[in-house]
Amino acid sequence: MIDSHCHLDLLASHKNLEKVLDSAKSAGLTRIMAPSIHPESWRALHKISDQYHHMLPIDCALGLHPYFLNSSDCLSSDKALSHQLSELESAAQDCHPSVKAIGETGVDGHIDIPITLQQKVFHAHLTLAERMSLPVIVHHRKSHHLLLESFKQSHYQGSGVIHAFSGSVEVAKGYLERGFYLGIGGTITYERAKKTRNTLAYLLEHHVDRLLLETDAPDMPMCGRQGEPNEPRYLTDVVDVISEIYSVKRSEVIATTTTNYLRLFGIED
Ligand SMILES: [Zn+2]
Repeated sequence: MIDSHCHLDLLASHKNLEKVLDSAKSAGLTRIMAPSIHPESWRALHKISDQYHHMLPIDCALGLHPYFLNSSDCLSSDKALSHQLSELESAAQDCHPSVKAIGETGVDGHIDIPITLQQKVFHAHLTLAERMSLPVIVHHRKSHHLLLESFKQSHYQGSGVIHAFSGSVEVAKGYLERGFYLGIGGTITYERAKKTRNTLAYLLEHHVDRLLLETDAPDMPMCGRQGEPNEPRYLTDVVDVISEIYSVKRSEVIATTTTNYLRLFGIED
């Protein structure tokens, strides 16, 4: 069972990572993707990946998350922005062995950062991902139309995952047609998530080869676990819900999503 989206560096400020990874392993996790959010996070995750590799393989992605564009100085001037982007490029080219993707990047329609700036940064991530032949890990909130527009405008031919996908079947199709994978997480553990559950039914029937599992820990608590930091071990809740609602074997969900993950991120089993 692989958690395709877990912010281990953020989790480390709430929890003892060794314990987190130990219980993740006991719960059946075999691998974790840790996307980064800003330059300090790139360095922190390289360290975490080295330090805990003996417990679980930890893959990393390099990116500038839209939430943190404020703190990473990109807003102050064009020069500061291009400096950040060229730092990202050299970090990616340094290519720590754990780097398997570019991200977390994307566009968020709900934050106080100008959309044009977010799109510019997103575009730079897409260009870098294509140049490095790495997939992208994409964040969205009220921004599906903007993301699809960016893919078109930048003629992006690469692949990637839309993380924490909770949209309709129609929206899902727009990404699937582009060869994207969809990350499904804690949202589906809530009964009210009818739209996402409906999309998941479609995915299981028609595009099961594009399904990834994720926790987005320490965020996005599973149903019944609100109020505590989310952890990779709770990925079992997502698997249980899928297995229950759609009458698929747990082992089948785990095997399929593991194969999908390894294929997308180009990792040999
Ligand atoms: Zn994230």
